[in-house]
Amino acid sequence: MSVSQLRCTDCHTSYALEERYACGKCGGILDVSYDYRESREQSRRELRQEPSLSIWKYASLLPLVDPGCAVTLYEGGTPLICCDTLSAYWDIPNLYVKDESRNPSGAFKDRAIAAAISKAKEFGNNTVVTASSGNAAASLAAYAAKAKIRSYVFIPEHTPAEKVKQAYMHGCTLIKVQGHYSNAYTMARKASASFRWMNITTTFINPYALEGDKTIAYELFFQFDGSVPDWIFVPTGAGPLLAGIHKGFRELRELGMISSVPPKMAAVQAEGCAPIVRAYESGDEHVIAWESPSTIASAIADPLVGYERDGDMVLKIVRKTGGLAVSVSDKEITVSIRALAEQEGIYAEPAAAAPLAAVKKCRDQGSIQDHERVVCIVTGHGLKDSRSLGGRMDIPIIEPTDEALEKLLS
Ligand SMILES: *Cc1c(COP(=O)(O)O)cnc(C)c1O
Ligand SMILES: [Zn+2]
Repeated sequence: MSVSQLRCTDCHTSYALEERYACGKCGGILDVSYDYRESREQSRRELRQEPSLSIWKYASLLPLVDPGCAVTLYEGGTPLICCDTLSAYWDIPNLYVKDESRNPSGAFKDRAIAAAISKAKEFGNNTVVTASSGNAAASLAAYAAKAKIRSYVFIPEHTPAEKVKQAYMHGCTLIKVQGHYSNAYTMARKASASFRWMNITTTFINPYALEGDKTIAYELFFQFDGSVPDWIFVPTGAGPLLAGIHKGFRELRELGMISSVPPKMAAVQAEGCAPIVRAYESGDEHVIAWESPSTIASAIADPLVGYERDGDMVLKIVRKTGGLAVSVSDKEITVSIRALAEQEGIYAEPAAAAPLAAVKKCRDQGSIQDHERVVCIVTGHGLKDSRSLGGRMDIPIIEPTDEALEKLLS
């Protein structure tokens, strides 16, 4: 480190790197100053490194023929966070979070949308449509704006307000559909067929979207120093995220990058909408649509009405990898949101905290061994759906005086 001192921007007095908020002489603003000569070569090397954001650094493994059509807002390149505090607290020795809330629109959907909308551009299709529980809406709207493509988005009527506002700001055409997500799905499908808009709904319907999701596996491979974690817990609606991650690991094997088997894939659903878990638990090969979804995890409240085969696909992967499908209650999800926020500094939306709740449950039931490395995919940011907070904030308000502060803290 070539950082040397604090310097007043006004009178140029220098100080050591201490806890100091203003110049002791003149009250001026302090600036951290470096010895640039000392670290010249290292700094130049660092600055020349390619910023590693954007899924397009894996262009040879993505389905675009013309690289000039790639649309990016610098999605991907998200951190893998080792959760030491939670590990100790919940007795899960090797626990990691892949923090997908760091994506441009605050959710992993940016990977899928970047891949799919680039394909739309390549096809010369200047209008796209999606059904969304909110995150794909916000993501598609942003990427469509960037790509100068018209976008129509069908959302369930009770989509979280933050996600709706986000999509709205990017200027897409939003249409609310009564009832649950599958109704919005049906409308997007109809609109796509009637008007020849490219359907980039992030179920399995658009084959390109999943290609973006799989880049999570490449990043994990890199982040685990060329090895493979044992478990990946994925919040699951229709399942392309889970299938995409699995595909990425299969490709790494195909390319001779890994010799081990792909990780065990765990599909996590909410108790109030768990068609895949229900089929898994009863040993069925086929998923039956869920009757009436009810959960705070709106991003995974997908009843799969009319596309139950999406669920079958997830079941197959889960079983083939020796993984599992597990559901968690809204209460367990709320506890996990708190734990992630208070102990790890990560603010997740309800669906994104479901994997942690599931890991705890599976650990308690003995399905996760001490030595196994477990990754939770935190799929979306807490700011996107603050309903889980309820009305439970207790924050004092005081007069701006010494007495008021003393009284409060005594
Ligand atoms: C879309 C979404 C999921 C589920 O993804 P699928 O690929 O449909 O299974 C999980 N979490 C969040 C926050 C999402 O937006
Ligand atoms: Zn077929």
